Amino acid sequence: MPYVVEPEMLRQLAKEKGYLIMAHNYQIPELQRIADFVGDSLQLARQAMETNAERILFLGVDFMAETVKALNPEKKVVVPVLCATCPMANSLTEEEIAKAKEKYDAPFVVYVNSTARTKFLADYLCTSANAVDVVRNVPSDTVLFGPDKNLASYVAEKTGKRVIPIPGELGYCHVHNFVTTAQVRKLLEKYPDAEVMVHPEVPEQVRKIAHFVGSTAQMEKYPMASSAKTFIVVTEVGMAEKLRALYPDRTFLTIDSMVCYNMKKNNLRNTYRALLSDGPEVVLDERLGEKIRKLVEDMLKLTASTHVGKK
Ligand code: SF4
Repeated sequence: MPYVVEPEMLRQLAKEKGYLIMAHNYQIPELQRIADFVGDSLQLARQAMETNAERILFLGVDFMAETVKALNPEKKVVVPVLCATCPMANSLTEEEIAKAKEKYDAPFVVYVNSTARTKFLADYLCTSANAVDVVRNVPSDTVLFGPDKNLASYVAEKTGKRVIPIPGELGYCHVHNFVTTAQVRKLLEKYPDAEVMVHPEVPEQVRKIAHFVGSTAQMEKYPMASSAKTFIVVTEVGMAEKLRALYPDRTFLTIDSMVCYNMKKNNLRNTYRALLSDGPEVVLDERLGEKIRKLVEDMLKLTASTHVGKK
């Protein structure tokens, strides 16, 4: 194992060993640059289904790698470290779901940012890009929604339905939940012509001062529909890296506190080691995998398309 790993060494080794490299939008720039595909969790899972490669090196956090594995049960899915996890996904327990189901006679819509075990107990699946469409199409005026309370509030606002967040107040992404309007306004004072793009995982008050609310996949398209030259990107800082590569003539500003340390556990060195040793490998119980595949299929049927536009 070399002490210093250059990006080119990684590309070369992946090619020799037949690995397709997939990276989430929040990965460090060096890893985004060496990846074959960079996208949000659903884009990556779909991409993984279309590839002929038998081996996938996945760069993200555990629940995303589980989804890729569920959709590609025959393929070998390898990650740099097993400890890159998502505190929000882990915040929702099976007991809480059971309690909520008992209290409310309503279907449970699970956000893709959840564990495989949580998905196993769900009736519907959604991503941040299609959560509004999914809930709108669920044949019930009341739904249980978890684990993100901010996305639940956004969906309730957009659909007019009763959306009950589980686990409630404690269900949030710490990267998005603690961003403040003051942080955004400070940047707006300096760049008054900038447009503010926010992820629906941010709190309602931040959402209210945004020009655009959308998932990372939707943020990717938004600059095409806007004449602004500068954007304030209110999501994990890694997303700005992707936007800069896509729109080199525009300026993308970030909120420095919005860093997901779990996403940043993957680096050039442990990625190289994973390629060298073909592991650690993602293992998923077949029953869980089957349920995830069914949820994804139903979700795609329920939402023919997702939309990009002003909030
Ligand atoms: S950014 Fe938030 S939701 Fe995404 S992996 Fe990190 S903690 Fe989880």
